[in-house]
Amino acid sequence: MNVGVLSVQGAFAEMAAYWRRRGAEVFEIRQRVDLSRKIDLLALPGGESTVQGKLLADLGLFAPLKERIDGGLHVFAVCAGLILLAEKIEDAERCAEARPSCWFGVLPVAVRRNAYGRQLGSFKTVGTFDGRPGVPMTFIRAPAITVISPQVEVLSVFNGQPTAVRWKNITAFTWHPELN
Ligand code: GLN
Repeated sequence: MNVGVLSVQGAFAEMAAYWRRRGAEVFEIRQRVDLSRKIDLLALPGGESTVQGKLLADLGLFAPLKERIDGGLHVFAVCAGLILLAEKIEDAERCAEARPSCWFGVLPVAVRRNAYGRQLGSFKTVGTFDGRPGVPMTFIRAPAITVISPQVEVLSVFNGQPTAVRWKNITAFTWHPELN
């Protein structure tokens, strides 16, 4: 499998290592020319969603990636990656640098960024993922999914809120599966 890891900011090295451990052929997506390679899955890493969104637009990656996601390319998104996919970012007015074109807005959920506050900003827990118990889950300044369309499948839950979801070609996590 050919995995393209968006590598403009954030935890892309960890994401690449995760897919290499799983035997995938991994390449970094840093500029438009990288999209000429064969790609079976797009991996969106954690990081700072406002910065990633701005860089996507500035580097000319936003439109071609959006077209491919709309066209059914499989996407594996973590944390900031999930925020970039969400239809609605509740506190978007707080990201002054964000423009409407800065996130893909294709996943029918609403998210609240940095939802766990300062004290619980980053934490680990163990939960059930896709019916499998005992899965370690690392949250790092994670968003919460506050509204979710009934068509979206919930794969894990924390504090009564969905923390991993699957919808069509997209699997997205508020926690970091690639770190455990
Ligand atoms: N807090 C970050 C944001 O709002 C996401 C953190 C992460 O990706 N681990 O973009």
